[in-house]
Amino acid sequence: MLGHMALMLLAPRVWPVAAFADEPGPARPLQATREDWKEILPEDRYHILFEEGTEPARSSPLDKEYGDGTYICAACYQPLFDSADKFDSGTGWPSFTRPLPGAMDTKRDFKLIWPRTEYHCSRCGGHQGHVFKDGPPPTGERWCNNGLALEFVPQGQPLPPLRDPGQ
Ligand SMILES: [Zn+2]
Repeated sequence: MLGHMALMLLAPRVWPVAAFADEPGPARPLQATREDWKEILPEDRYHILFEEGTEPARSSPLDKEYGDGTYICAACYQPLFDSADKFDSGTGWPSFTRPLPGAMDTKRDFKLIWPRTEYHCSRCGGHQGHVFKDGPPPTGERWCNNGLALEFVPQGQPLPPLRDPGQ
């Protein structure tokens, strides 16, 4: 028992699935269920965020966005990335060297033959993308994000209040 608890304490924050209010797993601050998100999100955004879809490369205007500002979760509006950490990876997806502190949780993903690290918004569980270790300094990481899972708020514009459609 003690060993099990120690393991849980030592384990990184890698969870088998994104958790929602309507399923067992780590508690999240939101009340929203998948159905709640489905009601307020456009179908293409819902597919990426809550069915772990991937948009076609070069399909998002945010791939070529290099203005100053903040990238927020398209579902719950939690700030996820600072524009200072964005770089052109040439992949056709918005790419960052790191997320804002505490903004993401990760899990292993075996959809392709080799394991990848999936990441999702730590507030709502919405899928964002995958992180790879072939990025530029200062982290050497490439956080490869779906543009549809983000919204860009230019510097000087107020961030929208966080939302929870389950409340
Ligand atoms: Zn979110």
